[in-house]
Amino acid sequence: ADKLFLRVRTGKIAEDLYAVLIRDVSEQRAFEQMRRDFVTNVSHELKTPAGAISLLAETVNDAADDSDAVRYFSSRISKESARLTELVGRLIDLQKAQDEEQHPDDVTTVNVPDLVREAAGENQVQAEAKHIELYLSIDGRQIELGNTWPEGLTSEKAMVLLNRDALKTAVKNLIENAIRYSSERTRVVIGVAVVDQSVIIRVVDQGIGIPQASLGRIFERFYRVDPARSRATGGTGLGLSIVKHCVEECGGTISVWSRESEGSTFTITLPLLSQEDGASR
Ligand code: ADP
Repeated sequence: ADKLFLRVRTGKIAEDLYAVLIRDVSEQRAFEQMRRDFVTNVSHELKTPAGAISLLAETVNDAADDSDAVRYFSSRISKESARLTELVGRLIDLQKAQDEEQHPDDVTTVNVPDLVREAAGENQVQAEAKHIELYLSIDGRQIELGNTWPEGLTSEKAMVLLNRDALKTAVKNLIENAIRYSSERTRVVIGVAVVDQSVIIRVVDQGIGIPQASLGRIFERFYRVDPARSRATGGTGLGLSIVKHCVEECGGTISVWSRESEGSTFTITLPLLSQEDGASR
């Protein structure tokens, strides 16, 4: 009976090992496939503006005597090279976000409302260009960007322990998208509130919204609901995948609510470190 038991056990172990091996191999394959897809996508994204630049440069050359044409084609060359620069910058951000995930250095205590105000301030020029009002909202009270926090707020001193750069990149990217996918003269509100043991950061826009069918895919690298629109407005399809990496590196989660032609709300939830009592001052 012992022998039989042993045979049964070794058989079971072999089976388990085999299962693990198969799983490892298929995970490895999936990873390899992802890597290949990524390289294909990057090459495609780089080739499009690079090809356009060389074509436009030839055209400028042919039209050298026509100063209007030279001006027009030169400005298109500038636009395409700006796109290349944007894309390369985003790829570096993505790489950084992935590296930081593996080496969670530079963790410090961060005051969330201050960070949010800073990130919003860095997007103010883009907002003004589209006459979009950027507002901060803390504990449900709306505050103009340049104004100081009013007295009596409880979330003003919400602190978290994380990589400040990563969180700022995430919030900035969300605000950038909110502006990019909104019409002129709308409003973008960036909210902060403490709920239980979490700090919630919300970026709310009144923009074009995201179709339900796409909601599950927007955090994928290079996924765009409308590639032409995203390109025309300077998008790369990498923004939200960078946001997701950054938020996860901070130990947080991200979710999205959206309805077409109503707007979108992106919510980051982070573990609260401490909340000094701002109300008692
Ligand atoms: P992109 O560089 O194209 O903006 P992202 O990864 O940042 O790439 O976003 C992926 C896609 O999700 C965008 O192309 C756009 O279709 C959609 N999207 C992201 N944010 C918003 C938003 N605030 N409102 C509407 N659509 C959005």
